[in-house]
Amino acid sequence: MARTDVMVLGAGIVGTSVALHLAKRGLSVALIDRDAPGEGTSYGNAGIIEGNTIFPQAFPSNWGTLLSIALKRSPIANYHLAFLPRVAPWLLAFRAASEPGRLLATSQAMRPLFARAVSEHEALAAESGAERYFRRTGWLKLYRSDRTFAGLARELELAKSLGIAYVPLDHDGVRALEPSLAPVFRHALHWPGAVSISNPLAVTQAYLARFTALGGVSLAGDAGTLHRINSHWRLDSASGPLDAGEAVIALGPWLPDVLEPLGIKLPLAVKRGYHRHYRGKGNASLARPVLDADNGYCITPMEQGIRLTTGAEFAARDAPPTPVQFDRLLPAARELFPLGEQAETRTWLGARPCFADSRPVIGRAPGQNGLWLACGHAHWGLTLGPATGRLIAEMMTGATPFCDPAPYAADRFIR
Ligand SMILES: Cc1cc2nc3c(=O)[nH]c(=O)nc-3n(C[C@H](O)[C@H](O)[C@H](O)COP(=O)(O)OP(=O)(O)OC[C@H]3O[C@@H](n4cnc5c(N)ncnc54)[C@H](O)[C@@H]3O)c2cc1C
Repeated sequence: MARTDVMVLGAGIVGTSVALHLAKRGLSVALIDRDAPGEGTSYGNAGIIEGNTIFPQAFPSNWGTLLSIALKRSPIANYHLAFLPRVAPWLLAFRAASEPGRLLATSQAMRPLFARAVSEHEALAAESGAERYFRRTGWLKLYRSDRTFAGLARELELAKSLGIAYVPLDHDGVRALEPSLAPVFRHALHWPGAVSISNPLAVTQAYLARFTALGGVSLAGDAGTLHRINSHWRLDSASGPLDAGEAVIALGPWLPDVLEPLGIKLPLAVKRGYHRHYRGKGNASLARPVLDADNGYCITPMEQGIRLTTGAEFAARDAPPTPVQFDRLLPAARELFPLGEQAETRTWLGARPCFADSRPVIGRAPGQNGLWLACGHAHWGLTLGPATGRLIAEMMTGATPFCDPAPYAADRFIR
């Protein structure tokens, strides 16, 4: 019977960062995944470490945008009609959380995590030899309509008061940074403090290698076999039973599969998202991620090509892929950047694990001794993985947490 201090379930960027932080503090740790580490949601994101994020994505307040989404014409979001009744309570909660006063409260609750996002990644990257994947060229956001840009006024005021740098650019300014972009936008902002990575999978794998170099064990196993035996937790891994005094669930969108059988129901939904890789036509290239805000997609230079990622799709997590958003956004994307042929034929689908209040759950699982949760990182799991790892490791080892973890407690959902 193998025994460790802690078992971490889920080897995405969040679970791997948690496991590494625990191992760095001298605990014996096993990291479990049923698939290859880093190949879940963490594989296919846009690669942006968004320490500059102030407000979370909000429910659209503009009737025109809502109508266009309802009519399935908008590139920003898609939905499966039959799924709407199931996700309706979550959507209503999301709309309530998008009220301006609550968005401000969320932004304040999340700031300590975002403020640490880049430095915590840089620390792990330095010790894991992953620095070569990191680009310190910021993030470029483009706005085609005056109305969308005008909607940023409050965010930009807050950025100034928080000392988060941004640089408004005209067409020449953008051309100087990204010569391959066409001037099809009316406004542009460069956020120089954002960092991006050229291969999210390779970064998770590098953190995993550092974890095993510190004595951590990476095992194949099904988290669904987790159960309590007296005062500890047992999991039936592919290498045999594994016992641990404490367990951390970091299963991203698969959280409910393991948590609900243990009697804990948290209101997690998913915003599905897709990517495809393209070659640039001729010498066209990019040096940083670019957001086309009015069309809800990002293009990011990756080792595999230019990664085009879509906005949200509301559908059951495991429903078959319906990548219709590409048809809606590709004309705009091709107008902005000379996308050539697809670099690989597949269309990747992932599921952002989201709570309606746009805060993750980091901390103890309610009513279950020795069980911890690190999940629900929505649009920012890559960004916040290492900061989450530090925070939960500090909580679990009795150290003073670097920020107040109360806003991320699962208890907020328990009445
Ligand atoms: C299109 C798109 C673009 C995005 N862009 C960005 C971005 O630019 N920046 C950013 O910060 N975030 C971005 N995100 C969000 C980010 O990718 C996620 O928040 C993050 O990957 C979640 O990480 P995780 O470790 O919680 O989950 P995952 O990476 O999904 O890890 C969960 C792991 O659990 C394992 N697992 C599941 N069930 C079981 C089981 N029963 N037993 C054992 N193992 C199991 C899975 O195999 C998986 O490896 C994007 C997401 C999408 C979809």
